[in-house]
Amino acid sequence: MNLTAPCYQCGEKAAVEGLCAACYEKAHPLIEVKSPLTLHSCKRCDAVKVPGGWKPITCEPLSPSNLLQQQVRILLDHEVRRFFKEADIEFTEEKKLDRVLHIAVSTSGQSHESIPSHTERYPVEVRMKYGTCDTCSMMSGGYHEAVLQIRADGRQVSESEEEEIMTIITEMTVADYGKDAKAYVSETTRTKHGIDLKIGSEHLCRQVADELESIYLAQRKENYKLIGQDRGGKKKYRITVLIRLQRFTLNDFVRVDGAPCQVQSMGKSGLGCYDLQARQSFTINMKSSKWRTLEFISPESTKRQFMVVTRVYGQPVQLMDSKTFEMFEIDDESLFQDKIEGETIFGIVLDDRVHPLP
Ligand SMILES: [Zn+2]
Ligand SMILES: [Zn+2]
Repeated sequence: MNLTAPCYQCGEKAAVEGLCAACYEKAHPLIEVKSPLTLHSCKRCDAVKVPGGWKPITCEPLSPSNLLQQQVRILLDHEVRRFFKEADIEFTEEKKLDRVLHIAVSTSGQSHESIPSHTERYPVEVRMKYGTCDTCSMMSGGYHEAVLQIRADGRQVSESEEEEIMTIITEMTVADYGKDAKAYVSETTRTKHGIDLKIGSEHLCRQVADELESIYLAQRKENYKLIGQDRGGKKKYRITVLIRLQRFTLNDFVRVDGAPCQVQSMGKSGLGCYDLQARQSFTINMKSSKWRTLEFISPESTKRQFMVVTRVYGQPVQLMDSKTFEMFEIDDESLFQDKIEGETIFGIVLDDRVHPLP
């Protein structure tokens, strides 16, 4: 016979450690939350103050009530103490006054594996307080540790490059939200020379510069400028990072080690080129010895269209420029196999010779 002693607190049938389920749950709650709580948010960007800093709203709020829900969620993530890791916290809005919100915080789970799941519900008063977060106050004061300048070698930064670069910068800035209060761009200026950005944090600026340098195989220069000194007499500097994009872009013509090539790809893995004479692709990176031999020939727009006039086996192929009607001859082998008379090809002319493009 198995005799169980009654709950030593209330006399009901005991379930765990000499307590009935209800008394055990009371002694071992799933969560704990204090009331009232203060929801301190930024009036400019809606970030929520949490211990150690400000937490930004990263999901675009759908409505004012959705924003408030996101803010309360951030607050509860920091204020609710969980005694069980897996406790899923929910809350419902009970009543909303001007600066006070009444919510019910609830969770369900088992306090002990031998008793069934139960639900706990706590009324919480949330008091709203508004201020300006660190990021917004530094940003509005124009504070910036770094200037990033984007230029291109011997040409203007193209519109598509500009768009791509701004997307990269935005993504990297957003990724740092909540981790670095200075992760912002306080000013963007576009001139005919390129783009200038004032960036709150030097760290973010360097990260962006690293990324652009490797994606565009760009040149990079850094310099520090003395901007003053703090009260303690310590000199303060501001860094300027210059990223200079290459003279060439995708599909432009360059010479590598003397050989005319077309740029096929640019990225972290290097510069992908197609050798127009050897008719094969290869990749070089900024560390390869051939990199120093890299020269710009002409932009993609210098390519010309030709018509194959005659093609007889074993004889030079006659090509005619589709616009100027100028005639050229090339070796049969240098033409791509599938082209027949009457068809057109693209090529560039270097030293009076046509180099067909792939
Ligand atoms: Zn009991
Ligand atoms: Zn703010």
